[in-house]
Amino acid sequence: MTKLNATSLTRLRGVDPNLIALAKKAREISPIPFEITEGLRTAERQRYLVKTGKSRTLKSYHLRGKAIDFVAMPSGKVSWDLKDYKTIVEKAFKPAAKALGLSDRIVYGIYWKSIVDGPHVEIHD
Ligand SMILES: [Zn+2]
Repeated sequence: MTKLNATSLTRLRGVDPNLIALAKKAREISPIPFEITEGLRTAERQRYLVKTGKSRTLKSYHLRGKAIDFVAMPSGKVSWDLKDYKTIVEKAFKPAAKALGLSDRIVYGIYWKSIVDGPHVEIHD
C-alpha cells in the first residue's frame, strides 16, 4: 500500500480532518501516485495569488483549511496533464469519498467550467 510522503503530511497541517482522511485513503488506492502541494493558506498568500493571477478569489476554501491541492506523479515525475488528474479523482478520490461517506460534500476543481483547476479538492459543510 502506498502512502503520502512526509512533505505531503506536513502540508496537510491545519486541514479539515475529513479532508485529510480522504487524501490519505485516495492515495492508498490511486492508480497514479500523487502528493499534496498545498492545504491551509494564509490571507497574505491568498492576496499574492490573486495579485499574480493564480487565484481569482479572496474567499478561497484554502483559507479555512477546507481545500487541498495535489500533484500527479506518474512514474515519480510531476505531470500537469489533466487526464492524470481526472484519473486520480475518478479512480481514487471518488471511491475514497464514498467509502468515508463524504461524496456529497466534496467538490473537485477538475469539473469546474470557467477555470479548470485539476489539482484542487475542497470540502463543503
Ligand atoms: Zn486549491
